[in-house]
Amino acid sequence: MPFTLIDLQNVIRDTYGDKDRRRGIEGTFMWFMEEVGELSAALRGGTKAELAAEFADVLAWLATLANGAGVDLEAALLEKYGHGCPGCHKSPCTCAAAEKP
Ligand SMILES: [Zn+2]
Repeated sequence: MPFTLIDLQNVIRDTYGDKDRRRGIEGTFMWFMEEVGELSAALRGGTKAELAAEFADVLAWLATLANGAGVDLEAALLEKYGHGCPGCHKSPCTCAAAEKP
């Protein structure tokens, strides 16, 4: 069964929306950064299951932030990355190696 980014944001809103509103976006950002740190640790030496769980946590907290900021992640990603690289507008990217994309 497909699970879109819209589904993700809706699941997160249904499951945690009240808590997220009480915590506020600044508190949510702190939790997001903590999860990014846990992903870093998992990338350095976690099991495959631990790594998968940390990727899921980071994406879930990113969805929480997007909900709090009123951003539709799927629309934002489609707008920015749906037509090739945002820098050179090609896929695969042909930007110079020193450039960010
Ligand atoms: Zn590019």
